[in-house]
Amino acid sequence: MSFRETFVEFIRLIFVLSLLDFFITASFSYASYLWFIISNPFAKENYFYLLIGLSLLVWCLEMVFPWRKDQPVIRKGFYLDTFFIFFNFFLFNLVFFIAFSNLSELYFHKLLHYINVPIHGIISLNNLPILSQILIYFLLADFLQWAIHRFLHNNKFLWRFHKVHHSVIEMNFAAHFRFHFVEHFIYKGGLYLLLSWLINFELKYVFYIHALNILIGHLNHSNLNINYGVFKYVFNNPKLHIWHHSKTFPKRFAKGANFAISLSIWDYLFKTVYMPSDGKSIKLGFKNIEKYPQTFVKLMKEPFKSNAEL
Ligand SMILES: [Zn+2]
Repeated sequence: MSFRETFVEFIRLIFVLSLLDFFITASFSYASYLWFIISNPFAKENYFYLLIGLSLLVWCLEMVFPWRKDQPVIRKGFYLDTFFIFFNFFLFNLVFFIAFSNLSELYFHKLLHYINVPIHGIISLNNLPILSQILIYFLLADFLQWAIHRFLHNNKFLWRFHKVHHSVIEMNFAAHFRFHFVEHFIYKGGLYLLLSWLINFELKYVFYIHALNILIGHLNHSNLNINYGVFKYVFNNPKLHIWHHSKTFPKRFAKGANFAISLSIWDYLFKTVYMPSDGKSIKLGFKNIEKYPQTFVKLMKEPFKSNAEL
């Protein structure tokens, strides 16, 4: 091995080791944070018990006011989706995402600094009253997610990943968190990096926005017989969202409809609403869903298969 080759090999080793160190440090600090919130139920902004509490709340409501009365409480895929809730909310963060987002944020900030853009947001919301800050952030973040979700349906490559979320055959609240981990990168990458670049917002309020998003998302997927009245034009809801999971669509909505995350306004505004009748017992999924896997590891691998339907 020549001196040059040895040198390149050495630099590569340093790079891999520092990357590894970054991941291990981030995972350990997240693990200790996770342990802290698990062992301190009354700790402020406790995501662990928030998630469990909201899940139990919506699950209980489903039992008391079911929409599809013949659907078992433990429906098809319920345990799998319960695992998905913990995987996507905590485990994935633990092993990978925190490190990745710290790393990308670091480089993103370096890039912003390099091109002379303020690191902490171009538009500052900090002087506005708290409620308007929260409202602006919520609206902007929800619109961006609506656009990203629409893109996941329209882009053939990304649809491979988003299909995992649409592989739910029987719907209830737990389906909310069945999605491929690649979606974390797409949503969080697109959302937070863009928002953190655009607006300066005190992150301490994010917990409450997050709580609201989880509740609305759980309700959207729930087997709950509720109507929002005129508020259906504002908030996404189970009667609207079930059609998003419809197995078939008319030609004009060949790539799907009802892309709303928390707010349905965007679908009404951009004419992507599809609700032809009561969707109580419609077939869910996509073409050939019968052949699609229904176990965790296979669902994670499916989009990477070379023969995955493009
Ligand atoms: Zn979708």
